[in-house]
Amino acid sequence: MSKKNLFGLTLAELEEEFAPLPKFRAKQIAAHIYKRGVKNFDDMNDLPKNLRAEFSTRYEIKIADVLKRLDSRDGLTKKFLLSLSDGAAVEIVLMKHDYGNSVCISSQVGCQMGCKFCASTLKGLERNLTAAEMLGEIFFAEEFLRAQGRKLDSVVIMGTGEPLMNYDALIKMLRLLHEDYCLDMSYRKITISTCGVVPAIKKLRDEKIPVTLSISLHAPDDKLRSALMPINSAFGLKSLLAAGDDYAQVTGRRVTYEYILLGGINDTEEHARQLAKILGGQLANVNLIPFNPVVERTFSPPTNAAVKKFFHFLNSHGIGATVRKEMGADVNAACGQLRAKL
Ligand code: SAH
Repeated sequence: MSKKNLFGLTLAELEEEFAPLPKFRAKQIAAHIYKRGVKNFDDMNDLPKNLRAEFSTRYEIKIADVLKRLDSRDGLTKKFLLSLSDGAAVEIVLMKHDYGNSVCISSQVGCQMGCKFCASTLKGLERNLTAAEMLGEIFFAEEFLRAQGRKLDSVVIMGTGEPLMNYDALIKMLRLLHEDYCLDMSYRKITISTCGVVPAIKKLRDEKIPVTLSISLHAPDDKLRSALMPINSAFGLKSLLAAGDDYAQVTGRRVTYEYILLGGINDTEEHARQLAKILGGQLANVNLIPFNPVVERTFSPPTNAAVKKFFHFLNSHGIGATVRKEMGADVNAACGQLRAKL
């Protein structure tokens, strides 16, 4: 019989699993799993020996195995391909910034959203990740950093997949991550990036988990946006911007609008003007992402001059804009370059 994996269970689930043992056993084991990174029941010194032996036969504590690791030349970005229990694989990216270490995790194996510029969706959706698997991606990063005397400061859910299409597992994972018996991570240190699943943005607004929301906008009008992102045919710009504004009002968190700059497609001054117009008055800022090449996609990156011009236009028209620092493009770890296989 295969062993049940305890990693990713909440305290309540552990209590239920171990019943009728007293509840403090679940607390002890949660502390071993989440606070100390213990993987082996023999190392749980505060459990009686017979219990350790019994648990070793019934349970395991497993995160993910590393299939491959790639380090960027500048040493700031590391990409890991992790294998999941069914043989599927996902990528995560560890980044070192001036303000700390962040990990970018995947929410699905593959993606069904079909954005025309992205590598992650080329083969469609294979499956959703479970809450435990997403938490495992984060713990992998945390343990990797801890072994080097560093720590994990923030989490971005911006890897492969559309997190809001895997809503229930995502919320379960976020709540667990925030628990004090787990990583005790502040919601403010967590960013979710979505292509614009409007009903799920509305639901998220009411969860009382004030994470930072990033909305992949990429075009300032419906015609262009629908051509680039199929989701826009289901939920157009008007409803998306209203949902973003509402999210900011209710949570008090400034929304980030991501805007890929595709050379010659959406990077002119006229696009910048329209963008400033539709975002005017919102508690929002814009993160410009120069297109990262994907072999199968025919778009070109913008010129440096176009990026500068776009950036200055927004900032001088009342929209706080930043240009995303490209990280890890030499190991295909930059935005839009992640896939299930290397
Ligand atoms: N599904 C989510 C999160 C994954 S993509 C979303 O759509 O937001 C993370 C970000 O990278 C998104 O803004 C996405 O549009 C962007 N992206 C995708 N392909 C890219 C590429 N080739 N170059 C630059 N950014 C890209």
